[in-house]
Amino acid sequence: MPRRMRTPRPESLGLATRAIHGRALAPHRGSVAIPIVQSSTYRFADSGEPMRYARGDDEVFVYTRYHNPTVNAVQERLALMAGTETALLFASGMAAISAAVLAVAGSGDTIVSTPGLYGGTYRFFRDILPRYGITVRYVAPDALEQLPSMVDHTTRAVFVETPTNPTLDLVDLEQLVTATRAAERRLGKRIIIMADNTFATLVNQNPLRFGADVLLESCTKFLGGHSDLVGGMVAGSKTFIRSAHTQLKYFGGCADPFAAYLLARSLATFELRVKQQNSSAMALAEFLQEHPRVLRVLYPGLPSHPRHALARAQMPGSGGDGYGGIITIEVGGGARGAVRVVDALRVAVNAMSLGGVETLVSIPVYSSHVNMKPVELQRHGVTPGMIRISVGLESVEDLKADFARALRAH
Ligand code: PLP
Repeated sequence: MPRRMRTPRPESLGLATRAIHGRALAPHRGSVAIPIVQSSTYRFADSGEPMRYARGDDEVFVYTRYHNPTVNAVQERLALMAGTETALLFASGMAAISAAVLAVAGSGDTIVSTPGLYGGTYRFFRDILPRYGITVRYVAPDALEQLPSMVDHTTRAVFVETPTNPTLDLVDLEQLVTATRAAERRLGKRIIIMADNTFATLVNQNPLRFGADVLLESCTKFLGGHSDLVGGMVAGSKTFIRSAHTQLKYFGGCADPFAAYLLARSLATFELRVKQQNSSAMALAEFLQEHPRVLRVLYPGLPSHPRHALARAQMPGSGGDGYGGIITIEVGGGARGAVRVVDALRVAVNAMSLGGVETLVSIPVYSSHVNMKPVELQRHGVTPGMIRISVGLESVEDLKADFARALRAH
């Protein structure tokens, strides 16, 4: 009889191990891959089951918009990766962000945010939230000491994105959390701190370790990693996730089981991919920084980045090389100059997303920040000559050669 072996606590394992195995460590019989339960609804053995569900028994599956076994299994894995009690998977990153915000804020409430945001989040704040009576106030990342004075009894949440899309600016999470908690003490009320971690990913940074309450990520990007799925995640406490789930149920942004399966498959290589993207991005950023036709390279890993010291403290990554897979460069000649370079690339793909295995490039004034007023672009630090590069998994020498060729066309 073999001695009974102790099963390690899943929480004590490394990120890659948690992403691959989840909590399924003790010996058991079953499929190795998470099975796809592609069903919109579930057969009940008898009507006692829906009655049990009505009494609050979550073990009873009733309808896929509410919950689904494949989606649940992936959610459990995401929560384990984030280090939270629980997590929710959504149809997209925007479904996750909108549900998270509306889970805490309603008419008459305010949110405080830093202005460097993905264009979709910014537009949601600018155009949609006011229709629900919710106001967003902005605090500059280099003026976080003003945050406590911007928070009042109407403030329900502080929202932050770091690094920011597409300017790769950083917000000091420790300072943001300290300022928010000081305001909380003064007001005697709870303020939920939400962080969009899409650019950094959990390989390089976990805002919850700095005291944020809610972690958000577009799974479409590095978590999915293959440009073949759309999804979003929210991780946090059970209480918060219960409110976000209510939003999911009634706005209907539920994840599809097949997308959840694809995500589970991607999680297995998540750390491996992102570590390679970190190191390729660093090499490409160093190369571009030396190129005479590149005016500016924004990459937190470069000592020339204005917040490099903060990046070193806040994005420990692994092996000291954890600054993410996104670089933004600026070329001369404004948007026309950027178009000339992008159209001359042959390996990198001209497409609007990021985080995939293929290098993707886009021009922010024609993509995430399209049709914004000059004053808004200025507030976001976006200029017409910018090109955002999401570094993929191609051989880095091929990427350098591709950019060298394209920059000659400039
Ligand atoms: N957050 C960031 C930082 C993003 O870049 C994006 C999309 O580009 C989103 C959120 C929205 O994610 P999705 O496109 O999955 O809705």
